[in-house]
Parts: sequence; structure tokens; C-alpha cells
Amino acid sequence: MEAKTFPLSKEQLTEIVKRYPTPFYVYDEAAIRKNVRAIREAFSVFPSYREHFAVKALPNPFILKILASEGIGSDCSSYAELALADIAGMKGEDNMFSSNETPAEEYRLARGLGAVINLDDFSHIEFLEKAAGIPDLVSCRYNPGPLKEGNAIIGKPDEAKFGFTGEQIIEGFKILKARGAKRLALHTMVASNELSIPYHIETSRMLFCLAVEVKEKAGVRLEFINLGGGVGIPYRPEQEAVDYKVLAAGIKKAYDEILKPSGLDPMGIRTEWGRTITGPYGWLVSTAVHRKSIYREYIGLDACMADLMRPGMYGAYHHITIPGKEHVPATEIYDVVGSLCENNDKFAVQRKLPKIDTAAENYGRSPGDFVVIHDAGAHGRAMGFNYNGKLRCGELLLRPDGTIMEIRRAETLSDYFATLDLEAAGNFLPGSPHSLNE
Ligand SMILES: *Cc1c(COP(=O)(O)O)cnc(C)c1O
Repeated sequence: MEAKTFPLSKEQLTEIVKRYPTPFYVYDEAAIRKNVRAIREAFSVFPSYREHFAVKALPNPFILKILASEGIGSDCSSYAELALADIAGMKGEDNMFSSNETPAEEYRLARGLGAVINLDDFSHIEFLEKAAGIPDLVSCRYNPGPLKEGNAIIGKPDEAKFGFTGEQIIEGFKILKARGAKRLALHTMVASNELSIPYHIETSRMLFCLAVEVKEKAGVRLEFINLGGGVGIPYRPEQEAVDYKVLAAGIKKAYDEILKPSGLDPMGIRTEWGRTITGPYGWLVSTAVHRKSIYREYIGLDACMADLMRPGMYGAYHHITIPGKEHVPATEIYDVVGSLCENNDKFAVQRKLPKIDTAAENYGRSPGDFVVIHDAGAHGRAMGFNYNGKLRCGELLLRPDGTIMEIRRAETLSDYFATLDLEAAGNFLPGSPHSLNE
């Protein structure tokens, strides 16, 4: 059982909100660094190991720079993510480009930057050749189909849109070799938020066996195997975090048993984890604004599902704590909700919590309790949206020296209107004056 911690006290938050009102995300730089060092240390059992952070989990160049300084590369899947990684100083083969349904210009950018292109489909061999040419190094994404069980978030592999079938992989490597690729690699991504260590070891076994088959049937000796992302984090306090050393040792055992006897040692091992890298080290900080008592008791926050979509989208559990009330008994049962006109805008359903003070009840006297939503450092703000005209919140970084740095400001109304031509809208139909700028 892991105690859920938050690195700032109520007093510190009270100071911070004078400059940066809630809601906001805050990330703990020291904790992120400590975590990635532990991962690299555990995986140092392999002759060559590289982690490529899945940029979609936390697409902020300040965070990417921290990761780059720890020797982490990127895993990108779009034009903007490639650009972000480049801005953060991740260059060439530091970057994996694992996209799907990829536009030609994205292949051209990836090729131009020297990123490792990871093809999602057999037909993309020819598409890539026409769009950008076949680079020296190409990776292919494998979908094991019915050979592998999936889980609730990513679904079953045989129903998933990603990757090549086993037969296509063998054929694909033959074709890539014939068309000039000199270095080839294999990738898969079959689970999401999976805490089971045996599950991940089994995935590596499956890929190692496929690497042997690729050698035998396609005459290709792979340069590296990318085990993908999908390692889970303990969102619930009673869950156990994945022990990186146990996971790495299990994969190493499979490596020794399968790759070594087949003459495939040394083989590069790569991962493209997102959630595990930053998830536990980011929090969504909000303020309790309203209380409502109807058939249930509700606490309404100034954050909403537009800031953090996982609970509403997947029914995902995110732990909640109230700074200053860590030791107050959980005597109440609340639905903790946001302000969207959507009933699934709930951060917690029937959750036991200490009695929460709201800003509305203390109008003008005290600001109401802070409500901290844990494990929001990956697939958090990044999945946000502007539905209901909600402005997306900003991001703060807690530096190792204890200072706070704003790494993305909150959106303003001008950001919301930035893609509209208000002048043209005002003049659109005669007699419909617009008042927005008046
Ligand atoms: C989302 C994604 C990842 C990262 O997944 P996590 O669950 O955050 O580890 C890695 N690779 C690909 C191709 C992805 O789509």
C-alpha cells in the first residue's frame, strides 16, 4: 500500500494561488528525475537500453527538457509532438515516431528530423517510400491479435486498429530490406495502465520469439525491440507500484532464454512509457466552490472534466486529498464534480472524504478548501478540451529548490476566440451587430 502524497502544504498553496489561481496542474521535478533514474538503473541489465517518453502523456517542452537531461528520448505520434521534442533538444534517433493513419507531411518531418519511423501498417511501406523515401532505420509495429489479451483501456489486440499481423511483419521486413533499409526494429504496444509484471514479461517473450522468427524467415537481424508503453501506476492507494527491478529482471530472463541462444545478443531494448514516467508526479489542484445537497451530497470544484477527462471518460479512479485535512477522518460521502453540463463530469463518485469547506459558504471570509486530484501527471491536462467554453488551466513546476515556475499559462478568453474572425462574424448578416469588442 502506497501513501498518496502531495508535495505542497495548505500554507504554500495559499501563497501560490495569489499569483496562480486554481485550477492548475503542478508537477514535481525532483520526483520525476528520481523516478526516471530508478527506471534507467533497473534496465541497465541490458547491453543497450533507451526510454522514449510518450509525449502525448505530458506535452510540455519544459518537462521534455528535464527528461532529455536524464537521457530520455521521445515517442511522438504527430507533427506537433515532433516539433515539441525538437524544441526540447531531442534530436535524430532520440525520437521514435509511432504514428498511425499518418499524413505524408508527418513522415517528411520525421524523416527530416532523423526520427526513428515506426510503421503502423504494411501499406505504409510503400506510402513512406513515396512520401519521404525509405530511411536506413525503420521499425514496424506488431499486433499479435488473438495471441494476446488486452485490457479495458486499450481493448483486445484483435479488435485494435494498430500494427501489422505476424505474417505482414515477416513480409514487411523482407520488403524493407529489399527497398534499402539497413537497420530494422520491432515494436508493440498491447496494453494500457497494466500493473501486472507477468503480463509485461509475457509481452517481451512474445516479441523475442518473433525476433527469432524474423531472423529465420526474413533473414533480418533486428537492431532493437521496443516493448512499448502501457505500464500501469497505482491510482488507488491500495494498489502496488510496479517494481522496476523485478520487471527488468523478468524481461532479462526472457532475453537470456530466447535471444541469446539464437545469436541475437546484443539486442537493443527500448520502452516508450508515458504514464509511469510522469503520472504519479503531477496533481490537479482545485478549490471547492459549492456544496449541494439533493439525493446525494455534491462538492462542486472550479476544475472540471475539461481539465481532466479520465474519470468521466473511463470511470477512472483518481485519489483526492484535502490539504490541511490529511488527518481528519473521512466522515462524509460526496460526489466531487465539475461545472460541465454533463453528468459524467465527476472526479469522484460516492467517495469518503473529510468534511469539505466551500468558497461559497465562506463568501468573502475564506477561500474554501483546496481539493487535490492525484496521479494527474500523465494523460491529464493533455486530454483536456474546451467544451462548454471551458478555458484550459495552466501548468506549474515545483523545482528541486522548492520554487514554483509557471510552465504554461492558463488560457484566456482571447485564446478561446483566437480561431474565430470576430470582425467577420459581426458583419456576417445585416443588422446583427457584435458586442464582444465593445
Ligand atoms: C500512448 C502510447 C504510449 C504510452 O502509453 P502509457 O500508457 O502512457 O505508457 C506508448 N506508445 C504508444 C504508441 C502510445 O500510443
